[in-house]
Amino acid sequence: MSNTGEQDVDKKQRKQLRFSAIYLVVALLGMWLFQVLIFQPLLLEAQEVPYSVFRSDVAAGHVKEVTIGQERIFFTLYDQGDPTAPADLPLQRAGMTYNTVPVPDDQLIQDLLAAGVTFRAEPPDSGLLTNLLGWFIPVLPFALIWYYFYRRLGRGGSNILSIGKSKAKEITGEMSGITFANIGGLDEVAVELKEIISFLKSPERFTRLGAKLPKGVLLVGPPGTGKTLLAKATAGEAGVPFFSISGSDFVEMFVGVGAARVRDLFEQAKKKAPCIVFVDEIDAIGQSRATVGALHTNDEREQTLNQLLSEMDGFAPNQGVVIIAATNRPEVLDPALLRPGRFDRQIQVPLPTEKGRRQILGIHTRNMPLAEDVNLDRIAQITAGFSGADLANIVNEAALLASRRDAAQVTMADFDLAIERVVAGLQRSLPLKEEVKRKVAYHESGHALVAALLPDTDPVHKVSIIPTAKGALGYTLQVPEEDQYLVSETELKQRMAVLTGGRAAELLVFGEASTGAANDLQRATEMARRMVTEFGMTEALGPVHYLADAGMGYLGQRAVLRPELSPETETLIDREIRRLVEEAQQTALNLLREHESALHQIAAMLQEREVINGEEVLRIVAEHQHQP
Ligand code: ATP
Repeated sequence: MSNTGEQDVDKKQRKQLRFSAIYLVVALLGMWLFQVLIFQPLLLEAQEVPYSVFRSDVAAGHVKEVTIGQERIFFTLYDQGDPTAPADLPLQRAGMTYNTVPVPDDQLIQDLLAAGVTFRAEPPDSGLLTNLLGWFIPVLPFALIWYYFYRRLGRGGSNILSIGKSKAKEITGEMSGITFANIGGLDEVAVELKEIISFLKSPERFTRLGAKLPKGVLLVGPPGTGKTLLAKATAGEAGVPFFSISGSDFVEMFVGVGAARVRDLFEQAKKKAPCIVFVDEIDAIGQSRATVGALHTNDEREQTLNQLLSEMDGFAPNQGVVIIAATNRPEVLDPALLRPGRFDRQIQVPLPTEKGRRQILGIHTRNMPLAEDVNLDRIAQITAGFSGADLANIVNEAALLASRRDAAQVTMADFDLAIERVVAGLQRSLPLKEEVKRKVAYHESGHALVAALLPDTDPVHKVSIIPTAKGALGYTLQVPEEDQYLVSETELKQRMAVLTGGRAAELLVFGEASTGAANDLQRATEMARRMVTEFGMTEALGPVHYLADAGMGYLGQRAVLRPELSPETETLIDREIRRLVEEAQQTALNLLREHESALHQIAAMLQEREVINGEEVLRIVAEHQHQP
């Protein structure tokens, strides 16, 4: 379905492009025809000759008529049958009209009079036409280019005349129809915003007592946690207009446009006060000048940021404009933005807890016919770490799966498959050789068996050797029992053992590893790196934090080591990371060796059925443990 949609858009764009190209060709052809059909004949009709020829023709008495223009002189010789024609008239030129470029010549009029030539000045009309052509033709290409850009920008939602205008979309709160009832799992965050709502509803209550409300509120949290939704709901609850713009909209190709947009946005907002201005992705303009670095200074961004700061300073706190900004990279923001009187109130919007996920699922399935077997509590339980947007996506995916089956209701199986799709990506049919399939089966069985054998890892939910669109040839899906806020050293080591379990199984069974373990190794190494440099979990390096503050990773951004570290320490860090990963792989190898018969059985079952679930893995492990 979506494929057809994309094709349609593609077709439309191609059509528009073709239209523009045809338009240009037709315009150029038109210009050329204009030149050839109208302009050229005027000149072609009369052959151009040197002024001296004209003068000698006048002197010889061959010229009958002359029209004197500013840029040209047209003259016609006597016709052959004309009774007044001179006897020596050159017959081959008789009756011809010529043109010549005038030369300053005071004598000309007297000579024409003396020769009895009829002469006149060029009528003003034809001058106008020439003049018109004279300016129209050079201007035409510029007009065409201008029109072309005008259309292109116009299609993008603005046009060249309003390039400095803010792109903020105004939706009134009531129209957006969004309230806190549409948001799940963010009750505490909503409480913090309630104060702003009551201020917007009745500002007098606050101003009477001289209270000042924050001008700016910064919502900080991972992507998809509902920051935009919160800002909309705040406007909706207060019943005030809602302006929304994204930081990247401010940054245009023309310097100064961003600043003009900020000015315009605040002008509009002040007119509609009380209102809410929502700036999404504020980090696009508000990035710290220090972190951007001297090599990457960006005038446009800086001007826009300065304009935003001065606008925020320029209106009084009781003017009724509240700015809500959102970012998932608070650490890169310029400190100037976070000063009192600007975005001095920060509200964290975290990933939802299990209870929150249950609420979000409830909201999104509100109008959906669910089958009896759908257990939203269970879905909330197995989706730890998912954002609100992920959950909305799962619900939508499940509904799509059900409608593809032409079913009247959405079932639990639809949800299960939808979760897998969000985690692992779509299934892909990829014809694999038996030998490759066998390797993948052992690799995944290795992960699953190690996970099943170690006590402090997340339970295995499903093991599959069906390739996915995300590029994996198979996957082992583990789902946590509950939200985890703290992870112990033992748990981290066991997770690393599970990650290296796939490679360990390949080593055990085939005597060598394959490229399939690259991603596992990357994740295990990253875990080891954090254990060593951030969590102080090794004897050799002690309880020391080795990362530079500026690069501190928030939300999984890469961290950098402190620059002043000695080369010895860096070498030691590398060595410790390697030791941890090697130990994890050894743990996995030992476990698999010990339970080799279970490994073979799981792998055989996988090869046969392609997908097996967590309970089956546990059953096989239990059976083999009871065998003598
Ligand atoms: P980003 O940082 O990527 O801009 P965001 O935090 O602004 O993301 P939203 O755009 O508000 O996230 O959320 C995207 C969608 O996810 C919403 O339209 C909504 O369908 C769903 N969603 C996210 N969080 C929630 C929530 N707490 N309750 C209900 N739905 C949610």
